[in-house]
Amino acid sequence: GREWHLVARPQGWPKPEDFALREAPISEPGPGQALVRNLYMSVDPYMRGRMNDVKSYTPPFQLDQPMEGGAVGKVIASNAEGLSVGDHVLHFGGWREYATVSAKSAVKVDPEVAPLPAYLGVLGMPGLTAYAGLLEVASFKEGDAVFVSGAAGAVGSEVGQIAKLKGASRVIGSAGSDEKVRVLLDEYGFDAAFNYKKGPVAEQLKEAAPDGIDVYFDNVGGEHLEAAIGRLKVHGRITVCGMISQYNVTEPPAAPRNLAMVIGKRLRMQGMLVGDHQALQGQFFEEVGGWIREGKLHYRETVIKGVENAADAFLGMLRGENTGKMIVAFED
Ligand code: NDP
Repeated sequence: GREWHLVARPQGWPKPEDFALREAPISEPGPGQALVRNLYMSVDPYMRGRMNDVKSYTPPFQLDQPMEGGAVGKVIASNAEGLSVGDHVLHFGGWREYATVSAKSAVKVDPEVAPLPAYLGVLGMPGLTAYAGLLEVASFKEGDAVFVSGAAGAVGSEVGQIAKLKGASRVIGSAGSDEKVRVLLDEYGFDAAFNYKKGPVAEQLKEAAPDGIDVYFDNVGGEHLEAAIGRLKVHGRITVCGMISQYNVTEPPAAPRNLAMVIGKRLRMQGMLVGDHQALQGQFFEEVGGWIREGKLHYRETVIKGVENAADAFLGMLRGENTGKMIVAFED
């Protein structure tokens, strides 16, 4: 089977030459293991961080080794109790056609309950990030006005809709194209949205949130964070979920230049890692699953076909070519 290796550490924006698709032998599953043929894999922003050789919350990808990440596939051989041929599993052996997974690290998923790619997006890791980041980390409460950046992406689109469903007074989103802004307003029910590429974020946010905001859910950092600090009310809260505007820069950005406002406004700013919020998983799956079935929560996916296009899908996601979760679907 084919698998993607990182062959050079990107400097700034990653290039296609930093990755290589290589043939690897398919091994028989050992005791407690199953062999899985992947059907869908995830490309996520955090993977950019794992391409750098720096100490972080996840270890760096090794050069000339397969990269890893979330994937859903079908068990084709099993030497593990509890996993049978034909089962569908969510696991971490993405970026390859065939994965050998241990029963401990694979979670069975049911295509009758939700379409398989949903386990990588709206009902998966990005979904839990949105749910926990808003409700737990930002201590969201009914009546809050919420601003979310990266609002047309996997996490952001769910943050905005959960806030609406939980009684936000106003939900504002920013995204990188007029078409994405239209989706936020027409499909996801945001009260206001703007294209951050069309003018200064602070000015556009002021227009969209004339009475200020209580919560800022940050997926972007930089100019967006500075604008939000300026617009937050006293005792406002910030969930620092991601700073994608900085993942490919070689110079640290100047913004936020107004950080001292955190004092006078008594703001609370808290970073998060989704892995700390596993305890919410059951509640998240039940509540968000229910909203999807009732047609109250909408989602999109951008699906790129073919394992050979996985690196391009990752690069495209960094450039904003996705609306909703970016997924790679493998050929049958
Ligand atoms: P998305 O589906 O949102 O895809 C990434 C999006 O980022 C692109 O579509 C693009 O949309 C936007 N983007 C890229 N560059 C910039 C830029 N310079 N300024 C503003 N927007 C930009 O990805 P996810 O939903 O998976 O992730 C969203 C954020 O959440 C990321 O920052 C990620 O790192 C973080 N995250 C954090 C987790 C945690 O545990 N802390 C867990 C999961 C995700 P556009 O066209 O709008 O520019």
